[in-house]
Amino acid sequence: MPVFVCSELRSDTLHDTDPNTHDMMTVLDEEEFVASAVVYPGSTEEVQKIVLWANQHVVPLFPISMGRNCEMLPARPLILLLSVVAALRRQTDPYLPRSVGYGGAAPRVRGSVVVDLGRRMNQILDINPDDYTCLVEPGVSYYALYEAVQARGYDHMWIDPPDLGGGSVIGNALDRGVGYTPYGDHWACHSGLEVVLPTGEIIRTGMGALPGNNTWQTFPYGFGPYSDGIFSQSNFGIVTKMGMTLMPNPGGYESFMYTFQKEEDLAQLVRPVAQTRSQSHGVHKEAPY
Ligand SMILES: Cc1cc2nc3c(=O)[nH]c(=O)nc-3n(C[C@H](O)[C@H](O)[C@H](O)COP(=O)(O)OP(=O)(O)OC[C@H]3O[C@@H](n4cnc5c(N)ncnc54)[C@H](O)[C@@H]3O)c2cc1C
Repeated sequence: MPVFVCSELRSDTLHDTDPNTHDMMTVLDEEEFVASAVVYPGSTEEVQKIVLWANQHVVPLFPISMGRNCEMLPARPLILLLSVVAALRRQTDPYLPRSVGYGGAAPRVRGSVVVDLGRRMNQILDINPDDYTCLVEPGVSYYALYEAVQARGYDHMWIDPPDLGGGSVIGNALDRGVGYTPYGDHWACHSGLEVVLPTGEIIRTGMGALPGNNTWQTFPYGFGPYSDGIFSQSNFGIVTKMGMTLMPNPGGYESFMYTFQKEEDLAQLVRPVAQTRSQSHGVHKEAPY
């Protein structure tokens, strides 16, 4: 059944092949986590309207930024294979142009309305080459941010992406994603949020709480208690804008892979690698998935 939240919002009807309504990698019955509709807000005010409507009708919401826990890449044959197998199971075409991976855009509560923020709220609102910061909406991917930095000629700045750049900056940071440089703790590198609360109220955290200030992306803490943490890996609000710290161009990057024959040697290996991280400013260690 189609659900139209308000006249200016577009809505998808429930459709068997849409990864926004069904969990494409489901291990349970494929109808287990089905969404009742998908809405595509175009502004914070429209998100606000959706939340108020959901409160009125007691309908659960499931916000996504891009819903891409993995960009479909030929270099990921296992993921491609899983997609094909999942499609064969439900006798549909594989979602080849869409994304699959750790999860997807399907909600965790059956019947939820998916709030797909990224499709229409996808603007890079600011890139500051002096402060090394940016302000983005939910639909801005790491690829898009990289391209925008390059297009503006800001060669002195880099971004720290996760392994795959097709997901959003906001979705990855809210999920406390990681990259592979000293700026790899993406949640730690964010600075300021705009959030629509479950009541429909809009708040800005950090310096964004002060009207007219120009330091929202440069000082993450603002004044008083720090509340940002409750919006990461949570359902306490829908994030509609986020500031992010960019990194100075370090001049190069080299990654290393340690291999060893015997599992019992792992403990001996971990210590020197960990020391490398704590003693060196330019080296960052990440454990592989
Ligand atoms: C093979 C592979 C390798 C990967 N490597 C890495 C890696 O190296 N590092 C890494 O960090 N990740 C990695 N990932 C994960 C992937 O990159 C991230 O999960 C992706 O960037 C998330 O972005 P998204 O926009 O798709 O998030 P979404 O799927 O849209 O959202 C992620 C979560 O945050 C919530 N959420 C999203 N947006 C909002 C919002 N605006 N307000 C409130 N809640 C919201 C969603 O409900 C969901 O629970 C990898 C994935 C795969 C499959």
